[in-house]
Amino acid sequence: GVAVDEIPARTRARAAELARELGEHAFRYYVLDSPTVSDAEYDRLMAELTEIETRYPGLRTPDSPTQKVAGAISTLFTPVEHLERLLSLDNVFTEVEFEAWAARVTREAEVDAWLCELKIDGLAVDLVYEDGYLVRAATRGDGRTGEDVTPNIRTLAAVPGRLRGGSVPGLLEVRGEVFFPTAAFTELNATLVAAGDKPFANPRNAAAGSLRQKDPRVTAGRPLSMIMHGLGAHRGFDVTSQSEAYQRMAELGLPVSTHHEVLASVAEVEAFVRRWGEHRHDVEHEIDGVVVKVDAFGLQRRLGATSKSPRWAVAYKYPPEEVTTRLLGIEVNV
Ligand code: NAD
Repeated sequence: GVAVDEIPARTRARAAELARELGEHAFRYYVLDSPTVSDAEYDRLMAELTEIETRYPGLRTPDSPTQKVAGAISTLFTPVEHLERLLSLDNVFTEVEFEAWAARVTREAEVDAWLCELKIDGLAVDLVYEDGYLVRAATRGDGRTGEDVTPNIRTLAAVPGRLRGGSVPGLLEVRGEVFFPTAAFTELNATLVAAGDKPFANPRNAAAGSLRQKDPRVTAGRPLSMIMHGLGAHRGFDVTSQSEAYQRMAELGLPVSTHHEVLASVAEVEAFVRRWGEHRHDVEHEIDGVVVKVDAFGLQRRLGATSKSPRWAVAYKYPPEEVTTRLLGIEVNV
């Protein structure tokens, strides 16, 4: 590679500027629940920084936004350490990029089952059940430490306080997406505006803003829901694949999506992505893509993870539909 002091000063300055801007946008998005740029614009800035770092690996420091799980912890909440890390996902935007990703994976692992599911546009929350009882709920935060939102999560009808069935696991850490149903979103914003409050930019920010309330009674008044999409630390929960884990979670009374499918080939996965691209508004929550995962846990373990994302999963993102408009003088994405 090129030594850092041989990198053009202009490129170094641009990389520093991108890192600063991405940090600022992440703060607005994760802490204030009030972004000032679209997700597509954020993704574009991240892609530009990634490209610079690929050209000049000397600029790829461990604290670069390309290398860590974005997120932050507000002082309004008690910090909680997750039992296992919550990661982000790498993105692909085209079939060419997806096929390159799948080829890299299949070079290392013989995959005959791809689990395809909808990418729910909400916020990740980690739940811990001990002997069947919900004892803790926390936002993703920086992936290691999140914000304690246990009283807020207890107000969600979808989240059981106690698991169902005779043989509950001794320990179960599950992750999922908390979302704001699309149909109720317009109504919420109208109510906020009528009360003189600032409306939310989109259902994702409405979900985060409604959950991350100091007073859980405010959360209780919002129609939040949750769908599980991951497994963390566990004891007495014996499953060998992601799809089997979902089936077992459903038996325990945890909400899982009915839209996931296990598919055998890359071509079938691409058909799933195209089909849901045409039906993205036919579900109760917003989707910003499809998540493709290697189904077998044995292969997931073999593939491992980077500091930011698992190597066994990818987010296939749909092109943005957002257009920025002005509502009562406030920039919002609709
Ligand atoms: P991400 O949202 O692209 O992907 C990771 C997340 O997807 C997981 O943490 C999980 O919460 C979620 N997810 C939804 N459905 C899932 C499923 N079925 N299986 C697994 N995970 C699922 O990455 P990120 O690191 O959370 O956030 C980065 C993204 O956030 C950006 O690409 C951008 O869209 C948005 N963002 C926007 C701004 C802004 O200013 N507009 C700022 C920061 C981040």
